[in-house]
Amino acid sequence: MRRAFHRNWIGLAACAVIFILAVGATVSRSVERALEADATARAEHWADFLTGKMPGLDYLMSFGRPTAAQSLVLEQAVKIGNVDRFNLFDPVGNLVFASDSHDRVIVWASNVVNEKPLQVARTRKPMVSLQEDTGRSDRPLVFAEAVVPVIDQKGNLTGVAEVVIDMTESAAGFRHNFTFMAFMIIAMASVVFGALAWAYMKNKRRADHSENRANFLSANDSLTGALNRPTFLQAFQTARLKAANKTCGLVFVDIDHFKSINDARGHDMGDAVLRHVATQLFRCVEEEDLVARFGGDEFAIGFVNSTPEQTNEKIERILAACRMPVTQRGTTLSTSVSIGATVSEKALALKDMLHEADVALQWVKAKGRNDCAIYDDRMGNRLRREREVKALIKEALAGGGFELHYQPCVNAERDEIQGFEALLRLKDQTGTYISPAEFIPIAEEMGVISEIGNWVLQQATSDAASWVTDVYIAVNLSPLQFESGQLVAQVQQALAASGLPPHRLELEITESLLIRDEHNIAFQLDALRELGASIAMDDFGTGFSSLSYLWKYGFDKLKIDRSFIQALESDPDKVRDIIESIVLLGKRLGMTVTVEGIETGIQRDQLIAMGCRLQQGFLHGRPSTLETIRLSRSERAAQEEANKAG
Ligand code: C2E
Ligand code: MG
Ligand code: MG
Repeated sequence: MRRAFHRNWIGLAACAVIFILAVGATVSRSVERALEADATARAEHWADFLTGKMPGLDYLMSFGRPTAAQSLVLEQAVKIGNVDRFNLFDPVGNLVFASDSHDRVIVWASNVVNEKPLQVARTRKPMVSLQEDTGRSDRPLVFAEAVVPVIDQKGNLTGVAEVVIDMTESAAGFRHNFTFMAFMIIAMASVVFGALAWAYMKNKRRADHSENRANFLSANDSLTGALNRPTFLQAFQTARLKAANKTCGLVFVDIDHFKSINDARGHDMGDAVLRHVATQLFRCVEEEDLVARFGGDEFAIGFVNSTPEQTNEKIERILAACRMPVTQRGTTLSTSVSIGATVSEKALALKDMLHEADVALQWVKAKGRNDCAIYDDRMGNRLRREREVKALIKEALAGGGFELHYQPCVNAERDEIQGFEALLRLKDQTGTYISPAEFIPIAEEMGVISEIGNWVLQQATSDAASWVTDVYIAVNLSPLQFESGQLVAQVQQALAASGLPPHRLELEITESLLIRDEHNIAFQLDALRELGASIAMDDFGTGFSSLSYLWKYGFDKLKIDRSFIQALESDPDKVRDIIESIVLLGKRLGMTVTVEGIETGIQRDQLIAMGCRLQQGFLHGRPSTLETIRLSRSERAAQEEANKAG
């Protein structure tokens, strides 16, 4: 654009120079013409003087010897009309007189035929030539040589006069006048031309600006200035091909919870966040890299020529930069982004790069956002699996596809069942059970855990209420069920609907719950306890195992995580010390202690020796369906009857 602008000005300047030169040339030619016309007029006037004043002119012109009277007139003639000197020719071109202007002596000249006078005699048309700066001392600076016919009053040609006229003064006068005129013309033309040029340039600049703006908008996002999707894809592909044999990175940046920002804080804040993120992206990339807005809250960056290490370094920088808060009209908001990237050589098709970067982004989002990751093949598999599980959860919710299995918790000393833990089960298409450790976090992310948890509560309480014994039923709770604000009502409703005495219901929570909003959690735990349910701390020893939590919330039970039992073999002394300490702690704080994961008789006995009689594990019973438990219990009763009878 700048170059085009300069080109225009150079063109205009060239036009102006040509115009000035043309005016100069015209003026010079005009001065010449005017001087010629002036000289002709003077010469003719001089010839008229001669014919009017000279007695016996025809005689003189024919014989060339002036009389005394004629000499007098001839002497006067040199003083007329700036005539410097003159020559007289007869009608056939012979020189008959030559004057000398210096001593004013009229000399007689011998007969010599001259071409010019002869031609003038024939045509009767004057001939004029102007001369300047000839260097001759006997000539004026500027003079005209005018050859004019000498015609008497009757109209007869009596001869030809060649008159040298001093035009120095006339030339200076003409030149001065014409130069002034030329200057005026140039000045006026400059004003008119300048105004037109200025208007033209202004319009042109406006048109150029509009054109540039239109071009910009067709390739860029108007809010952030980033490239739009089609332009980015084309530019990135071209850059990839140019950067032969070098790795390029493709990055997707997604603003976390952007919809909520827009909904809760308004579109102005949303726009401010988008601009803020775009600014940070531009700040963090190199000049050759490409930044685009793919629409909504998603940006893409093309790192042209970037190794995996460099890409990683850059995305870490972007992640940190985008965490800087945004301020809009006095309101400050903290933001974060999720970043998925892929790095590849030219060989990988662009569409595959886009897919991989998207998989990496989905991966980061699934893992809780506000992070970055570079694609690896396992991500794709895990995401695919997650998608499958999500579909299964949806299906199970709609069509009653969840099951509950029950695992007994026993008094190992007396081999007596104290209660059952309800464990949720979900089958895949092949009929294989998916571990709740896998599908529960996914259900939590989908926001359906409260609905599922409510079903578990209803099913478990109603199953337990149908049992003949009054053993307890333990139900696991997700921290997110506390967030719904409906948990207490759901528990109350499940108890009421099943008719299960509340003291038979045990609710298992994990420590991860307690690091949340303490007041709200404590309030709900109290309300659940008031309903008559007991609260157990599950997986104790794997989280913070904070004494302050135990003391503050006063649980009814601690369930020692099965990882301790697994470590028993490798590090028996240390594990024993820990378990005995927990048992002691439980006793002091009035909490029963259960141990999970007992698989062998040795473990059972070791744990009894450590003071842990309440045990759960495959040794005492695997999680099973209600029918299996009923069956095994009736078998067991029959066995006992038979033993007694025996
Ligand atoms: P958890 O509450 O600690 O449940 C005990 C887990 O240990 C169960 O795994 C059980 O099958 C397993 N287990 C019990 N005894 C043994 C043993 O001797 N050896 C071994 N290797 N494992 C044993 P499961 O059923 O896969 O459940 C995993 C976790 O999923 C549970 O851990 C619990 O945190 C969660 N979960 C299960 N059902 C629910 C539910 O209805 N709601 C919620 N929120 N979470 C649930
Ligand atoms: Mg549990
Ligand atoms: Mg557990």
